[in-house]
Amino acid sequence: MANSDNQSSLVVAMLGAPNAGKSTLVNRLVQAKLSIVSPKAQTTRFALRGIRTIGKAQLVLVDTPGMFDANERLGKAMVQSALNGVAEADHVLLLLDASRANAVETAQKLLASQGGNKAPISLVLNKVDKVAKEKLLPLTAALAALHAFDHVFMISALEGDGVRELEQHLCAQAKPGPWLYPADQLTDINERLFAAELTREQLFMALQQEVPYGLTVETEKWEENRNGVKIYQQIVVERESHKAIILGKGGSKLKEIGQSAREAIGAQLGRKAHLFLHVKVKEDWKDRPEYYQSMGLEF
Ligand code: GDP
Ligand code: MG
Repeated sequence: MANSDNQSSLVVAMLGAPNAGKSTLVNRLVQAKLSIVSPKAQTTRFALRGIRTIGKAQLVLVDTPGMFDANERLGKAMVQSALNGVAEADHVLLLLDASRANAVETAQKLLASQGGNKAPISLVLNKVDKVAKEKLLPLTAALAALHAFDHVFMISALEGDGVRELEQHLCAQAKPGPWLYPADQLTDINERLFAAELTREQLFMALQQEVPYGLTVETEKWEENRNGVKIYQQIVVERESHKAIILGKGGSKLKEIGQSAREAIGAQLGRKAHLFLHVKVKEDWKDRPEYYQSMGLEF
């Protein structure tokens, strides 16, 4: 039995605009690839917890969808999920892409949006690998005027610079009490959803314009056997034309996507995966509660 003496934990939520690097940072802090990442905005659709236990301190890192002006149901549910993630946190990281010219305005909006949570907020300037050093000081000064931040960090979530200091700071803030999860648990999402996310990541990488935003992936069947696991997934799209794009000539595009997804899933599960994908048109999936449920989103 693990001794719960001296255990401590901290729930830390990411608050940021789309593409700030929230998922990249959570993956780095957890030292595992949990949350999918792409160069496209709004890749993350629901709040997901990554867990990292360092010595006696457990950090629960809540990755969230970005905050944006949503006008459709799915977008609104994503933003709500981000707000819920922030509301339940002990500590909030306001993550900004420091290379963006509008960082101050973005921070202002984010601070206004996050509502009543009284948890301390630290400012995290990300992507400093892309910014000239002399620009960071005036930017930090302008941002510091917006809020009494608990702490300011300058990091590259991609390359790892500054992440150690951030991690140590968070561990030092951890509150006494038994851990929220077993020390070896990495995330709160299950394998079926995780596998669907890995396929969606490949779709986000391979597809352009509105096509990735119009689709969702569902794991329908999961069969374990001695040789590995057979996974059946459905890619749900809103239009026939999107289905045709995903299939490609003679199904070639879907085959490529399936291969990359199978490799990613196999690597993550640590066992051989066979992946069976099929594409289905369901025009109104974004208006059906069952698709929100599987992602843990409010309908
Ligand atoms: P999210 O939408 O906030 O979750 O952002 P992601 O983690 O999905 O990252 C969006 C894009 O920014 C991806 O292409 C990442 O590789 C990239 N990115 C994230 N962090 C950094 C960083 O520190 N430096 C650079 N140059 N790119 C980054
Ligand atoms: Mg993300």
